[in-house]
Amino acid sequence: MLKVLKFGGSSMANAAQYAKVKAIVEADASRSVVIVSAAGKRSRDDHKVTDLLYLCHAHMKYGVSCDSVFGMISQRYLEIRDALGLKTDLEAELARIRADMENGMTEAALASRGEYLSALLMADYLGFEFVDATRWLRFRMDGSVDCDCSYPALREIAAGRKIVIPGFYGAMADGGIRTFSRGGSDITGALAAAALDADVYENWTDVSGILMADPRIVDNPEPIPRVTYTELRELSYLGAQVLHEDTIFPVAEKNIPLNIRNTNDPAHPGTIIKERFDEDESPDDGRRFITGIAGKKDYSVVSISKRGLSSEIGAIRKLLEIFEAHGLAVEYTPNGIDTFSLVVSGSKLEKVQHSIVAQLQEKLNPDEIQVTKDLAIVAAVGRRMANRPEIPGKIFSALGREGINIRLISQGPWEVNVILGVEGKDFAAAVRVLYDSFVK
Ligand code: ASP
Repeated sequence: MLKVLKFGGSSMANAAQYAKVKAIVEADASRSVVIVSAAGKRSRDDHKVTDLLYLCHAHMKYGVSCDSVFGMISQRYLEIRDALGLKTDLEAELARIRADMENGMTEAALASRGEYLSALLMADYLGFEFVDATRWLRFRMDGSVDCDCSYPALREIAAGRKIVIPGFYGAMADGGIRTFSRGGSDITGALAAAALDADVYENWTDVSGILMADPRIVDNPEPIPRVTYTELRELSYLGAQVLHEDTIFPVAEKNIPLNIRNTNDPAHPGTIIKERFDEDESPDDGRRFITGIAGKKDYSVVSISKRGLSSEIGAIRKLLEIFEAHGLAVEYTPNGIDTFSLVVSGSKLEKVQHSIVAQLQEKLNPDEIQVTKDLAIVAAVGRRMANRPEIPGKIFSALGREGINIRLISQGPWEVNVILGVEGKDFAAAVRVLYDSFVK
């Protein structure tokens, strides 16, 4: 049994958090590969070390002294080391980074030092071996990860060892450091889990799993116990934020379960994400066929109506080609007999709307073109929505009671979701109505 664990910034924020991490790792002998983020915020108005590192780089670039910002970073790590009574020679590490900065260290190399220092300290504290990410995580020049090269390299290094790896970065073929986009330690963890064919990838953060709805909209939403990769993609696409969006590919590909856990509440089982669940793993209590509720604002709908449109061969292709030529992704396409609607990003449409409308006019000669702005999409995502004839009725009546007007409705062919379009002003209310009618 092998478990790969990733601890996020809040789990690495101070000595007290390090102690929780140690207790978690030591509670299970199979927890042998640990990936860490840079020190995150200790309180609401604190700073993330990674932000401070980017700030240092900006100071250097414009010739402003970064001594005080670098001092804050050094202080964070020295405090942790001293509070834990560790022996890591941080002074030498910090002096080396400072010298590299004077010699024109790249932004990525500097930004990566938060994870690097976290991993040095955590390795010392756990008594694990420190394995630099540059020893195995290889990027191609185009920024993608070269798994064929990275996976075997990690397998060789990690065999039979207990190790700590800094997240967020790796090396390019020329040896230079490259980082993922922000929040990328999640991806490092997923890649390590995939490389080592781990039994589980535990992603430790500061919430007890993925919540069923946005906590800024719904009070105390419940965590989701089990979610499939497909559902998670639906939820994240629609704005639910838990993991870096590229996290799931490496583990999903190898069917490795991903478990989101809370460092501050380690007894909570969190959320398990898998390719699929057997029926006995997710008992249907008649209520929980909804996995989560998510949504996004800022959509526009372009609707074309023309008598005979549905029987005009090639008309829809021409329509789609116009959007394609303008680089505009069409997200949903609800339609009627002789009307066709395309739901697109509102801000992106804004820039090309006149040109699109002109071309639609010219190439399709429709009876009418309508652009509806400020639409929000709200979706209920769930596995077992098929054979649930009561769902649409329930949704319509709950929204109707609240006076929310439904502008479009679409149910995914795999019945993974029900998508509703409402006016932007009704967004939060619609999320709450769906949550209250399906979860409470
Ligand atoms: N420290 C990096 C960031 O703040 C990466 C991470 O924490 O995942 O984005």
